[in-house]
Parts: sequence; structure tokens; C-alpha cells
Amino acid sequence: MTLRNIPSVESLLQAAEEPIRACGRPLVTQALRESLEEIRADVRAGGAVPSNQQILSLALSRLAGWTRPSLEPVINATGVIIHTNLGRAPLSNAAIAAMTAVSAGYSTLEFDLQTGKRGSRLVHAESLLQQLTGAEAAVVVNNNAAAVLLALSALAKGKRAIIARSQMVEIGGSFRVPDVMKQSGAKLVEIGSTNKVHLSDYEEALSASVSIRESVKESAFRAVVIRAHRSNFRIVGFTEEPSLKEICGLAHAHNAIVIDDLGSGTFFNVEKYGLAHEPTIQESLDAGADVVTFSGDKLLGGPQAGIIIGRKDLLDKIKKHPLARAVRADKTCLAGISATLLHYLKDEAEAEIPIWRMISQTPESLKARAEHWQRETGQGEVVPAESTVGGGSLPGENLPTCVLSLDVPKPNQFLKKLRGQSPAIIARTEDDRVLFDPRTVLPEEEGIFLATLKGLLDSG
Ligand SMILES: *Cc1c(COP(=O)(O)O)cnc(C)c1O
Repeated sequence: MTLRNIPSVESLLQAAEEPIRACGRPLVTQALRESLEEIRADVRAGGAVPSNQQILSLALSRLAGWTRPSLEPVINATGVIIHTNLGRAPLSNAAIAAMTAVSAGYSTLEFDLQTGKRGSRLVHAESLLQQLTGAEAAVVVNNNAAAVLLALSALAKGKRAIIARSQMVEIGGSFRVPDVMKQSGAKLVEIGSTNKVHLSDYEEALSASVSIRESVKESAFRAVVIRAHRSNFRIVGFTEEPSLKEICGLAHAHNAIVIDDLGSGTFFNVEKYGLAHEPTIQESLDAGADVVTFSGDKLLGGPQAGIIIGRKDLLDKIKKHPLARAVRADKTCLAGISATLLHYLKDEAEAEIPIWRMISQTPESLKARAEHWQRETGQGEVVPAESTVGGGSLPGENLPTCVLSLDVPKPNQFLKKLRGQSPAIIARTEDDRVLFDPRTVLPEEEGIFLATLKGLLDSG
């Protein structure tokens, strides 16, 4: 029996000063115990007793599994700019600094420096949004799904909420516009067909006779029209939809309001980058939408947030609704969104916000970067390919790019190896080749990206 040759936990702990400093004695003890348990079973089955060094490294890899965070940075070489699975928009330096500043210590989150009394967290991004859009009022919440749910709950509960069947979209992560509408307590009124909705469909729904109960309510408006942006698909062919302006005109004439869920929303016209038109926030307001909702971390390029802007009387209702508290934004979000909005106000968004830098990279500079990668790694070829914006904006729209294309024996296995690096590199395959798109690799990541890739390629 060699079981007695197995060292004790105590004796092993003496050689583990370093890990104890890093992780604490209880966790190291537990890792050693479990490793020894395994070794004992192995020895009983006829195995040899490993050296103390081997036992220690077994315990250390167990320890690493426990303490390694599951949420960690990765390098996005996929070319999908707003990659929802990879955390959407990388933040500007100013946004990061603002978020760090308010999270490291105390802040004026709900404190008025003038009066020394309690303030409101709702003021922080509001004036920036008013300046940028001309909207009467604004509120920032946890995300756009929450923005839509809150706006509908506060404004459409018990009322008819009219939506075109062609806009009853599912965004992903089981967020379906019609389900959210029902959840809010609105009475869903579907109009039109999957591919077409006419102004007369809106007219019919808006002038439908209302029950006596509904008509005696003293509320200022009788119904809500929802327009939801088709963020992640396109309808092509035999299609029709009235303009938002026409819908708003009709709704207002029938004493109804319009909520426009833009999904991504953008302050810029993206056509100058060769992309299809993405409705801008300004256009929705100009068309007469009473309330507009959009995300903070899609084309806005900020942290996760949902933004609601529009008429003051309606925003007042929204801010007072009990759900507003449940979905409110935290201080880091408010700081990050404000810093991001300020870039737009100062007309420096294209230079400062990473997603706009990525979108506006020229084909020549992308080619130059891909060629630099090829020279550095000494492998692959530089070929034209396409990047996408992603993140529920501009479905089916691509941006021309140049990628480093590697011909490796087993592309999927290679992708897995890339994911196993530290930091993990996320790439994509096309026609059995592994592609690396410079568009989404941040300039400050390029050094570690190339070193990691070279290391992996050199190791064979
Ligand atoms: C993305 C999207 C949402 C949800 O926004 P989140 O910020 O992800 O919660 C809602 N509506 C539309 C149309 C969207 O595109």
C-alpha cells in the first residue's frame, strides 16, 4: 500500500505561500484536499503517487478554475461592430473615465450641491438629451427593453395600443414587441398584413367605436399607436407602410399618441458611410412622435441603457410610474451615457466613440492594417471581405473591409484554440478559412492581439 506515501495537506500548504497570498488559505486548503482525494482514488486503483510539485500544480489548476472570472475581456476580430454576445459597444475614454470617477467614491447621484439637499438622479442626462434633440423631456433607464415596457405601462395601460403586424418583431433574448405590449396592460390592436399596412388601416383602428367605459375616462388621449423599428430583418418585395409623419398626423387628429421604438436609434445619418438609411432620433421627433425610445449601447455607442425622450406631460407620467424605480439606471450608467452624449454635443463623436471610429475606417486603412498583420505573423493572405454593423441596426447592411485570411487544417479547432488564449480572440470562418477583421480590433489591442496570434501560430 503506497497510500501512506501521499503527503498531508499541512505539508503541502507549507510550499504554497504564493497561492495562499493570492487566494487565501481556506481556498488553497480546499483545492489541495480535493486534489489529494483524487490522487488517493488513483493510487488505490494502482496508480503511482505524484511528486509534491505535481500535486501542487494539480491543486493550482483547480484553484484557477474557481477564481477565474467568467466575464472577461476578449478581442473581437469578427468584424461585427455592435456584437451583442460580446458586450455591444466599447466605450470612449471619456465615458470610461466618467464611470470610473463616480464608482470609485461618492457622487452627486441624488444630491444637489447648490442647496445641500436631496436631488434627483433623473436630471443627469436629461439636459444633454434636451439640447441634442430638442425634446421637452428625457429619462434614462436600464435598457431599451425596459424603456419600451415602462413607456407602454405608463401610457398605454387599459388603452388600445395599435401596431402593424409587420412590426410585431422579436428582438432576440425572447423580447417580443407584442408580448411586451400585453405585459404592459395595453389592449393590443393588430392592423394590416405581414407585408403591408395602409394609412386606412390606422384610420379604421383609430376611429373604431370605443366602449363607454373607455370613453368616459378623463385621460387626455384615447389610444396609443406603436411603431417598432424592424431592427434585425428586412421586408422586401411587395411592401408598404405609411410614413411616421402620416401616422402621427392621423393619430393626433384622433386624439391618440405615437410611441416610436427606434431600437438602435442614431444621431447621425449613416448614409455617408455607404449604408442604408437608419432612422435618426431627430427624424422621429420631427415627424411628430410623442415618445421615442432607443438603446444606449447600440449606435449611440455608450454603456447599456434605454433612453426615452418626448413630450413633457408624457415623460412626467413615465417618471412617476412605479416601474420607473425598478428599471432605473445606476450611477455608472448615467455617468457613461452623459459622457457619450457630450461627444455628440461637442461634435467629436466620430473621433471619440469607438463604434463610429470603426464604422468610419476607410477601406485603405483597413487594408494597411490587415497587411501589417500579415507581415507580423508571416502568414495568410489579405483579402477583401465584409464587416457588419450588427446589434439590431441596419439588417443586411455590410461595410467593405480587408481581412487576414488563414488557411489552417482544421478551422473550427483553430477557432477553439483562439478562444482558449488569454485574452481570448474571437474570429470567424468562411469557406474553411479563418478570417480576422481589423475593423473591430481596437488599436490599443493590436499589440497583444498580434503577440497572441503569433504565439499560437509558432506553437504549431
Ligand atoms: C434592441 C432593441 C430593443 C431592446 O433594446 P435593449 O437595449 O437591448 O434592451 C427594443 N426594440 C428594438 C426595436 C430593438 O432593436
